[in-house]
Amino acid sequence: MPAEKPSVLIIYTGGTIGMVTNPETGSLAPLDFSHISREVPELNKFGFQLDAISFDPPLDSSDINPEAWIRLANILNENYHLYDGFVVLHGTDTMSYSASALSFMLENQYKPVIFTGSQLPIGTLRTDGKENLITAIEIAAAKHNGYSIVPEVCIYFENKLFRGNRTRKHNADHFNAFTSDNYPALAHAGIHLRYNYGAIHNPDKHLKLKIYTRLETNVAVLKVFPGITRQVTDAILNISGLKAIVLETFGTGNAPTSDWFVELIKKAIANGLIIVNVTQCDAGMVDMGRYDTSIALRDAGVVSGYDSTTEAMLTKLMFLLGNKSRKEEIIACLNRSISGEISVF
Ligand code: ASP
Repeated sequence: MPAEKPSVLIIYTGGTIGMVTNPETGSLAPLDFSHISREVPELNKFGFQLDAISFDPPLDSSDINPEAWIRLANILNENYHLYDGFVVLHGTDTMSYSASALSFMLENQYKPVIFTGSQLPIGTLRTDGKENLITAIEIAAAKHNGYSIVPEVCIYFENKLFRGNRTRKHNADHFNAFTSDNYPALAHAGIHLRYNYGAIHNPDKHLKLKIYTRLETNVAVLKVFPGITRQVTDAILNISGLKAIVLETFGTGNAPTSDWFVELIKKAIANGLIIVNVTQCDAGMVDMGRYDTSIALRDAGVVSGYDSTTEAMLTKLMFLLGNKSRKEEIIACLNRSISGEISVF
């Protein structure tokens, strides 16, 4: 009996990869997936079963929101048993947020979900979209001993495969748009696809996929800066209904030590707000207590974000607040890795 063809479902959400120039405005706007497939006849050479689903209308990723993540999770769940892997075509601007969110919303995942996109539309001569799409499909279908090699939510971009919840978009112009400074690449694509097996999650393949579709959006990011005023801090910490804040701090988790700043943080925590400390740096981790300027935060009950990106921490909070009611349980989950997003074990 001939071996079954590898099968991959491509989910097109929008983004530059499928955009064309709007003749009226001269700006780029998303088009449907048939446009992309016409531009990449190479897809026929795979000999895979390739199917596609398109968001209607496709979205520039600036318009992606938790509703779109829920739609994605449902599409993945409904099609999970039908395909070996999934490729999500998505705009680069918020791709790290989406990949992070999905990494929390999918539990017991043992099939690849590979996000990719491009910096130049697929119809343009120098597009980076073709290689990104073709290699993402190859990775989504890749198996070893019958099991997917990369059973994670990832971003593949410009020759590198990253764990999605470790990435951030760091370059608006270059083809290598993403970095993962606190976690090594899961694969490098050169002449060969070289997988970094030691860095790839090894799940229990016998558990059933479970999706979580409740996300709490009453969260915010407060980035401290030299000169931040009492009014700004007070206004953000006291937003009505706010449940949690990602506090983006300096270096290893440092913030102004003015009495008013520390008092506002203490009061907000006493009123039930969860505050998580994440560094503004691209690499390294929060270590409250290393400097005097972070001791007050630690003593006030600010939770460490370890080496998390803001993108991963914000979506982790949305996920935890949407699915757990007890504050102690949420804080316990913040102090451990749920999906490989922080380096604590
Ligand atoms: N604005 C586009 C988007 O994020 C940029 C891109 O796709 O690279 O949808």
